[in-house]
Amino acid sequence: MKKQCVQVDKKKGEHVRKALMEKGSLDTTVRIASDERYIYIPLIPDADLTDIPLENAQVIEHEFMLHEKQATLKHILGYIPKYEMIGSIALLGPEETDIERTANALLQVNPHIKTVLAALSPVEGEFRTRRFIFINGENTTQTIHKEHGCRYAIDMEKAYFTPRLATERSRILEQIKDGEVVVDMFAGVGPFSILIAKNRPSCRVMAIDKNPEAVKFLRYNTALNAVSNVETIEGDAKEEVRKYARIADHIIMNLPHTAQGFLDASMMIAKPGTVIHYYDITPEDDLYSASLGHIEAAAHRAGFNTDTVSTRIVRSYSPHQFNVCIEVRITG
Ligand code: SAM
Repeated sequence: MKKQCVQVDKKKGEHVRKALMEKGSLDTTVRIASDERYIYIPLIPDADLTDIPLENAQVIEHEFMLHEKQATLKHILGYIPKYEMIGSIALLGPEETDIERTANALLQVNPHIKTVLAALSPVEGEFRTRRFIFINGENTTQTIHKEHGCRYAIDMEKAYFTPRLATERSRILEQIKDGEVVVDMFAGVGPFSILIAKNRPSCRVMAIDKNPEAVKFLRYNTALNAVSNVETIEGDAKEEVRKYARIADHIIMNLPHTAQGFLDASMMIAKPGTVIHYYDITPEDDLYSASLGHIEAAAHRAGFNTDTVSTRIVRSYSPHQFNVCIEVRITG
């Protein structure tokens, strides 16, 4: 069948596919097609292509085949269920009603799925964890997730992890130069820190987290990925940064909702030239200005000024709220 798609050079295909998937613009009902030079990534009708890296790519019509697996799911259930893959765990979307029937169908058609879970709670508490209900397969919340050539051991109930930030993590990596010092103030199990450390072996990466379980996995993951340039620090980022004045070339602040309370602490490790990568959840009618105001005010309190490097929507969070990234360079 013919569909609208993005035609892109094979080398760039995975990057574009991931970005489209995160946007919800990828048509998963058909198989991605390819020829010697290009990959053809199918789009849903009226696909949102904002922020998709489309350099040297074009939107064209192309012939696609039905995905056998998807066709079977559709055959069994009458529709294609929404779920997220974290390692070998399928996490059902909140809209799923007949979760047992859906779980059975997923286990039946997808040999990569070993466990099916549904979330019992939103991301909550200081450590940003979730509770899950086990539905079928192997009864576990632990898995190993692969992303950008790295492997992450995860216990989904004990520490935060989402595969939805995969594109965002590679965007940050692109900005890090050899030899720089990166402080990841809320590192979790290490998906920003380890990706950077592995791809920039001359960088010093300091990965802080307060959740002892997250740090346990972070330490394990540094070994799993054979990186030796990550310093794992268990503790409150507000306190830990006091030990490292004016050290950072990049500060990653991935604690949406609460990062504002850590801005004064981040200024202790900042120096002229430091880039702060600040994540927030903001309303659609004020995506950036309030958060930028908080960053500027903290910089002024520390005797610095700021230049805005970039602002962008990372993903939608709720009908009228967005997860945004604001990047600011500290100036003297
Ligand atoms: N950056 C990681 C990622 O992308 O998967 C984790 C992000 S998660 C939204 C925020 C992390 O901040 C959690 O792992 C939580 O345990 C940690 N955290 C919360 N309060 C903290 C604090 N005061 N100091 C250091 N880490 C903290």
